[in-house]
Amino acid sequence: MPEKTMWVTCDAEAGCGHVFEVKEFKIKRLKQGIEKVYFRCPKCKHEYVAYFTNKKIRQLQRSLKVEQDEEKQEQIMQEIKDEMKWLSENLR
Ligand SMILES: [Zn+2]
Repeated sequence: MPEKTMWVTCDAEAGCGHVFEVKEFKIKRLKQGIEKVYFRCPKCKHEYVAYFTNKKIRQLQRSLKVEQDEEKQEQIMQEIKDEMKWLSENLR
């Protein structure tokens, strides 16, 4: 079981070193149906991007929830991973 809360250190280049618990992810809509999922350091407000999603990823995430077959679940997860990787490489 994955842990529900996530602890991170504000260790970006401009980060403050604060250790904090990520309680919620914020979503920002970008162009072309792309959404940025991110959180901020509560102390210095530095923004950390968790991942990006687009229509295809959100569709895959939905089908993952209803998919019963484990092999297919893994296929879908891999597809989501690849798509997210592609997105983040092309958005930064
Ligand atoms: Zn910080």
